[in-house]
Amino acid sequence: MTTFEPQSILSKRTSSVEEVAIIAMSRKARNLKAQGHDVLSLTIGEPDFDTPEHIRQAAYKAMNDGYTHYAPIPGMPELRKALAQKLKTENGLDYDWSEIVVSNGAKQSITNAIFATLDEGDEVILFAPYWAAYEGTIAMAGGRSKVIYAGLEDNFKVPADRLKAAMSDKTKLVILNSPNNPTGAMFTKEELQAIAKVICDHPKAMVISDEIYEYIRFDQPHVSIGTMPGMAQRTITVNGFSKGFAMTGWRLGYAAAPAPVALAMTKVQGTFTAGANAFVQMAAVTALNGSRDEVERMRAIYQERRDLVVSGLNAIDGIKVPNPPGTFYVFADVSAILGKTVSNHKINTVDELCNWLLEVHHVATVPGSAFGDKKALRISFATSSDVLSRAIKRIARALNP
Ligand code: PLP
Repeated sequence: MTTFEPQSILSKRTSSVEEVAIIAMSRKARNLKAQGHDVLSLTIGEPDFDTPEHIRQAAYKAMNDGYTHYAPIPGMPELRKALAQKLKTENGLDYDWSEIVVSNGAKQSITNAIFATLDEGDEVILFAPYWAAYEGTIAMAGGRSKVIYAGLEDNFKVPADRLKAAMSDKTKLVILNSPNNPTGAMFTKEELQAIAKVICDHPKAMVISDEIYEYIRFDQPHVSIGTMPGMAQRTITVNGFSKGFAMTGWRLGYAAAPAPVALAMTKVQGTFTAGANAFVQMAAVTALNGSRDEVERMRAIYQERRDLVVSGLNAIDGIKVPNPPGTFYVFADVSAILGKTVSNHKINTVDELCNWLLEVHHVATVPGSAFGDKKALRISFATSSDVLSRAIKRIARALNP
């Protein structure tokens, strides 16, 4: 018998993708908790609220009404029509319901869009700081990520001229995420207009506009880039139910795109998975068309927590936190601490800072390096005010002993 190493048959595609730091930090935090330590976790990327009652009731009803079979690959017509209406009235986007593809989460919608458009070697422009999953998906599809960066001095928003300078004849996609994970930054209408102009001057570039945090915003309106002149044909609008409706575990997202792109995304989905869960789709119609009181209640609580976290962290020497207009994250600039010695401990990088805060002070955060930024920590406030206050006290004691 010949010896066989299962490792040896793994595809280059999978080995090109590394474990994301968020998962690694969450695992470390869980291990420390299991050893009996009182770990405060600020790594969480999902609402700490349960799905509103009326949406859960709608799912039970749909199940009892027989929605337990395969759904059409691009989604149930009832939901796609409700989504077309939502996109029109809330976002000013004019998509026919046949141009909407419902999937198992916004993540799958993004995967569908990337696999539907990229050929080997095609370039995708990412605005750093960015959500790490984009990079892995692009790599798996054979594309190449080209990262352009915006720091604290740009309010974490890449300006149009930087995008223009980065675009080449290989650029096929630009991924935009507003409100942004990890920074909470949101593009204004004027900023999107300038970006749209750059895109429209290019012979073939399209935008994937990831709007998953749309309902978690505090200070400014959400604008969809697809509403900008010339952008209807050049935008794949992605959104989902996970964040705003607290439905992460239900796995439901969608993309709206010009007909040929929607068709290609349906092909990808039909190949890899199939239609999303049928009774979940029916419950999502209730989420869209039913009361939004709970969505607003959660949003208001996130806003109170944001204010608590921003003021608490800004009172710590060495940390600078801009007020995030959306999401449940703050992106805390710690560049003043890097290279310094704190409590006899030299901290060279954000990764070292993150590990030290977790291992010694039992506060879990995510290093900015997981999002293409080496100067900041992502701190999630999708957890109780009590946990947040205690965590801020520990960070303050650690950094300003
Ligand atoms: N896009 C961004 C920016 C996210 O942060 C996330 C989840 O963390 C997703 C997409 C994925 O959302 P879904 O749960 O709908 O797959």
